[in-house]
Amino acid sequence: MKYLTARNADRAGDDPIFALNREAARRRAAGERIINATLGALFEDDGRLAVMPSVIEALRSVEPERVAGYAPIAGAPDFLEAVIGDLLGGTPLAAQAVAVATPGGTGALRHAVSTFLDRGQHLVTPSFHWGPYGTICDEQERAVTTFEMFDSNGHFNADALASVLASTAARQGRLLLFLNDPCNNPTGYSMSDAEWAEVASVLVDAGARVPVVLLCDVAYMAFAREPRALLKHLAPLAETALVLFAWTASKTFTQYGLRVGALVACTADDAERSQVQRALSFACRGTWSNCNAAGQAAIERCITDPALRAKTDAERSRLTGLLDARVRAFNAAAQAAGLRYPRYDGGFFVTVFAGDAAAAHEKLKARGVYTVPQAGALRIALCSVAEADVPSLVQALAESV
Ligand code: PLP
Repeated sequence: MKYLTARNADRAGDDPIFALNREAARRRAAGERIINATLGALFEDDGRLAVMPSVIEALRSVEPERVAGYAPIAGAPDFLEAVIGDLLGGTPLAAQAVAVATPGGTGALRHAVSTFLDRGQHLVTPSFHWGPYGTICDEQERAVTTFEMFDSNGHFNADALASVLASTAARQGRLLLFLNDPCNNPTGYSMSDAEWAEVASVLVDAGARVPVVLLCDVAYMAFAREPRALLKHLAPLAETALVLFAWTASKTFTQYGLRVGALVACTADDAERSQVQRALSFACRGTWSNCNAAGQAAIERCITDPALRAKTDAERSRLTGLLDARVRAFNAAAQAAGLRYPRYDGGFFVTVFAGDAAAAHEKLKARGVYTVPQAGALRIALCSVAEADVPSLVQALAESV
């Protein structure tokens, strides 16, 4: 008897990154010296998961009835208002935004794919992208089309983007582009002002021909050197394209398990905006119905309560400092060792180019160093490596790639 439908019959049941992380943890527990650079969660230098105490304080302050009750389907209005203010406050986009709550950024990405692409259509994203983009599309019978992320000078490849947008638009008559910036996962790259300006102009051109939806996956925004630099390029875009943000508390508030996020949608067109809001609410009802009520209340308090906000800002600034020290240590050692990698000035990950990534990955594993292999490169999660281990990590990389 075949219970599964054909397209679900041979699914990989395990996420490769979580599987590698488990293997590394098993070897460490057995007493081996392991450097585990696999998982996208921020760890203290002593190996404990970094937790922001003020967020736990906020969670404890949520009233029992609010914890126990259903949140509204589209999300709690005070939470959504807080997210929009936090993300877009002080920019014209704030007045053009609607939002729905989602379980983390993943839920926001999911809704973007289901709502702005038809079955069989393709999402466009750079060659270096977060693997689950493909899973989210595949699970919903959509697909991913990529373009070379970097040109021969190591800059964001706007020409390759323009060309793939043109062919995709010709094929399907609409465009959905996912850009994970700043602090791209897996490369660590943050686009410069000039690169964003070029992308915006490519999207304005495309928008003259077909409907264009740009989703900015801002999962790592809070850890960037200039977190909101991209916004000035997006405000004019909302005149000709729909601009989405996948916002998440997972990294910003170190609350990966709380599953609090939002999909924020901005357009200058009032009628379109309310239609989008209704479609996204409908998608919420048709998937998870509603999201974690206590989580939304706690994160809303962290953003808007002045005393809590001061504490969360200070705690996050300590964590950003912790990560930045690793980034500096990595850049110093990697440049001295001649590693090839994109410009990296902040964020959870960096990617090192490797001729034969699979072979390099095996060599590294043999010496107790865990990274995530990809096409022609290895992803290094510096968020989970102590600063003191960075020089040995870089030496192992230099001897393996
Ligand atoms: N986007 C990127 C690029 C990520 O790396 C992640 C998590 O690792 C997410 C989105 C979504 O995370 P979450 O669903 O926990 O918010």
